[in-house]
Amino acid sequence: MDTERFRKILLDERDRVTLTVESLHEANSGSSLEEETEEETYDNHLADSATATLNREIDHTLEENSDHVLTDINDALARIDEGTFGTCTSCGSEIAEDRLEARPYATRCIDCQRLAERV
Ligand SMILES: [Zn+2]
Repeated sequence: MDTERFRKILLDERDRVTLTVESLHEANSGSSLEEETEEETYDNHLADSATATLNREIDHTLEENSDHVLTDINDALARIDEGTFGTCTSCGSEIAEDRLEARPYATRCIDCQRLAERV
């Protein structure tokens, strides 16, 4: 397997995610603190909460996911250095190359991932 090719894909992806996180931080810092405090007093569990609140929550979710993805990408780059890239961390078999193509920071083969997601 051409791990150097995946290293490049991962580095590109890391740049892209870093930029996304930075732009989200900028967007969030532009909102007024007062407004944010006011929103906190409403019941966040209500399904029909204000659209503004919903959008903010989506931003936060994206931001949290981006941090996860960054960790996954860094782990994948470390695995390339170790020579364990492309090996399932659960069962030790090879992860299909087309799966890595779609998700280069995957840590499990498709079978183990399905098992994990069924829980
Ligand atoms: Zn596996």
